[in-house]
Amino acid sequence: MLLIFIRSAVPYRAWFECFNSDCKERYALTDIVYNCGKCGSLLQVVHDYDKIKETSGGHWMRLFDDRKRRNTWPYGSGVWKMKEWVCPAVDNDNIVSMYEGESNLFLAERLGKEIGVPDLWIKLCGNSHTGSFKDLGMTVLVSMVKQIISEGGDIRAVACASTGDTSAALAAYCAAAGIQSIVFLPKNKVSPEQLIQPIANGALVLALDTDFDGCMKIVQEVTSDSTIYLANSKNSLRIEGQKTVSMEIAQQFDWDIPDVIVIPGGNLGNVSALGKGFLLLEKVGIVSKRPRIVCAQAEMANPLYRYYKSGYTDYKPIQASPTFASAIQIGDPVSIDKAVSMLREFNGVVEHASEQELADACARGDRTGMYTCPHTGVALAALFKLVKRGEVEQGDRVVVISTAHGLKFSNFKLEYHKQALSHIKSHYANMPMELPADTDAVRKAIDERLSEKNQRPRAG
Ligand SMILES: *Cc1c(COP(=O)(O)O)cnc(C)c1O
Ligand SMILES: [Zn+2]
Repeated sequence: MLLIFIRSAVPYRAWFECFNSDCKERYALTDIVYNCGKCGSLLQVVHDYDKIKETSGGHWMRLFDDRKRRNTWPYGSGVWKMKEWVCPAVDNDNIVSMYEGESNLFLAERLGKEIGVPDLWIKLCGNSHTGSFKDLGMTVLVSMVKQIISEGGDIRAVACASTGDTSAALAAYCAAAGIQSIVFLPKNKVSPEQLIQPIANGALVLALDTDFDGCMKIVQEVTSDSTIYLANSKNSLRIEGQKTVSMEIAQQFDWDIPDVIVIPGGNLGNVSALGKGFLLLEKVGIVSKRPRIVCAQAEMANPLYRYYKSGYTDYKPIQASPTFASAIQIGDPVSIDKAVSMLREFNGVVEHASEQELADACARGDRTGMYTCPHTGVALAALFKLVKRGEVEQGDRVVVISTAHGLKFSNFKLEYHKQALSHIKSHYANMPMELPADTDAVRKAIDERLSEKNQRPRAG
């Protein structure tokens, strides 16, 4: 094993900095602060990039290759393997990690060929400890909380509003660290699998009679008490962990950059993180190319899409309507400005998908061996549209970010195949056949089904 050490007299440094370029006020990462105290804008984490650049891009690449998936705490984690670029100040003893990241990126050969983009890849971020990409950011945030507590900070609990996956991640990482979590969920708007996750991990689970935006309002008020730490993506520590998905994709392609990346967006932290990761790779001199970023929204919750269509001139929060893509049912996204600034950098496109389109896209992906969550369905449906319009071309290398595991959405899938989703035609339905326990009847059914398939290949 080749050992590579990063030696330096000056430590790697990062801080919170006001996102408003006219202000740029700074705060320590251990400060309990979510908005700029001077101007009220969102904060972002900024690193001492000159310090990072003292080490060559090649050296960093070898270091990350060397640490990848090894057992030396905490660098085997896909997030902490890049600790110097993510959150250098936290002590290794305070890191709360469940070896998140390093999720598979696979060639979706059959689906790619079907839609005419043979170089189509799926980044399965849902193959993670709690079943969604939210683990990437939560390991950083909860580690920082543990660091603050170890330095004598007074934090009684960590709280978030959630559409289901953030609360699952927060509850798991807090449980691992022995820190109390409080999750605010919109009542009856998350899947049963998502509801049971924080319950099982010992969170204080509050089901409120409102939607996500309503929960977000209340959690912000509750966390004005600084002993209850806010874990929503407004807290930009999470973005630092989530941005590692970009470095990971690059590394998985041997530091090559794909042409197009499609990502579903709700509160828009993740699309901001994606761009931030690629910009950092560029700053360090590892890559020079930028992918085109496509943000995909559900038509029922599409404030960014509307803003994009107005040429980014007219932004209005909306009242989000119910969608099967429940994790992105958000009408007033916190990270709207960060997302737009990234989309401008990456020749960005925003597309949306109807309930019918996302449901069929999920089923179509599943027919080719995937097991998609509805948000991944939104991303796939958006991709299908862009390919049809010729905006994504045959030779493009395309990566779709799959944000959660399909097993969290069993009811949605079951109802689809039962053809029981209201207002949806299940074009790819595949119901079990109920038969008597009789070999002849079984043979007959098999023969019928197989010959039907031969004569008339089913859609997709
Ligand atoms: C949180 C989430 C999203 C959206 O991410 P944002 O940062 O809110 O845009 C998409 N898909 C799934 C499964 C999620 O949990
Ligand atoms: Zn400011």
